[in-house]
Amino acid sequence: MLPTCHSANPLNPVTAAIFWRSKADRLLKVDLEMPILDGNDQMTGSYASTSEPVVSKMRNGIILNEGLPVASDLNIDLCPDHFRFKLELDSNLNSVAIQIETVDNPGGSEYDDDPDKITLEYSSQESAWVTPSMLLVSDHVDDDYPPEINVGEDDEDEDRTHLIQLGGKLKVSEIEINGSGIPVALEYAVSEKKQVYINVVILKYSDGTPVISEDEVNLHIKIAKERYAQVGTGLKFNVILRDSPEGVDLSDGGIGENLSDEMVALFDAYGTAETDDIYVFYVPYNAEGNNLHGYAFAGFGENPGVYANNIIMDSVKTDHSQSGPPGVFAPARFTLGHEIGHLLTNRAHFGDQYAESASNVEKLTNIMAPAGVGSSVDIPRGNKRFTIDQEIWIHSSNLVTNP
Ligand SMILES: [Zn+2]
Repeated sequence: MLPTCHSANPLNPVTAAIFWRSKADRLLKVDLEMPILDGNDQMTGSYASTSEPVVSKMRNGIILNEGLPVASDLNIDLCPDHFRFKLELDSNLNSVAIQIETVDNPGGSEYDDDPDKITLEYSSQESAWVTPSMLLVSDHVDDDYPPEINVGEDDEDEDRTHLIQLGGKLKVSEIEINGSGIPVALEYAVSEKKQVYINVVILKYSDGTPVISEDEVNLHIKIAKERYAQVGTGLKFNVILRDSPEGVDLSDGGIGENLSDEMVALFDAYGTAETDDIYVFYVPYNAEGNNLHGYAFAGFGENPGVYANNIIMDSVKTDHSQSGPPGVFAPARFTLGHEIGHLLTNRAHFGDQYAESASNVEKLTNIMAPAGVGSSVDIPRGNKRFTIDQEIWIHSSNLVTNP
């Protein structure tokens, strides 16, 4: 029966739900915001709306004790890469919350972070409801960061760290007002600012056995991608297995070092010659056994000439199944990202050949620190794995391209 007058004609619940679903995105003003920075990378205290959140490693907001980070030290508010959501809704609402998740990660569903509900507080100063500061992170160490310091427990409501990869999306999937959920689908792509193409060659012994398993190399690649996601740089790998070329004999244990004849034969056969891409060779380093896990023939320093942009990875020392302590973050697994970093920053070691005045924490956690200083230590409370300077160098390298 049709209504016969203009009296209130309340929608039935189903119709109301459909109405809200169709209108919610337009009726609700949802802003993703990031801190406005000054020319020195310092936060100004103000926020600006953005559609491009970034992946980060916690930086700033670290409490030190005798030069080392302490347990309750991580303050997302102080990290310039944080984001928050702001909703312009009436101050007299009882409660406002949003549900956020990450989706469509190219690294696979392992990186798709489950939905978490985040409660907003009303800010009378801003006349809006705002979330706490939150961070997009690229690995499970940061994502699982212990909850005792107010960053929320992973995959629980109020979690303030969210796992993502470059190419994935941060998504608001629901807005809850006074306890009633309204489904929405607001997506914010986290894009690559730069790309690098990297060829990986795994040599085979004469009997056809690869010198290292592809699974192990893929783990190195995964960890390297997670590091470079933190500086907006997508690493594009192409992995192939090849026989040892003429002039390379692995039966004597390795291929020597410092542009040995065997190394030159290897680079001449399969490698790069001052081109704009990178070649990585997994090969037993040398029979004598130095301590190097890898070596990058970078443009600085030893003048590698036409052999620049080749990287040697020791297939024995970087193979977790053969060496190093157990666990995903065994030292050798950061070597690939470290060696690539030598080429992209075109510099030697952080805290040694440059940034000599860096703090202990920075030295302990920077991926370009010299071996033995802690470049292998992955701790979420550390500084960003790359500094801003390193990020700028990487982005201006002639080995990177625009997407
Ligand atoms: Zn190095």
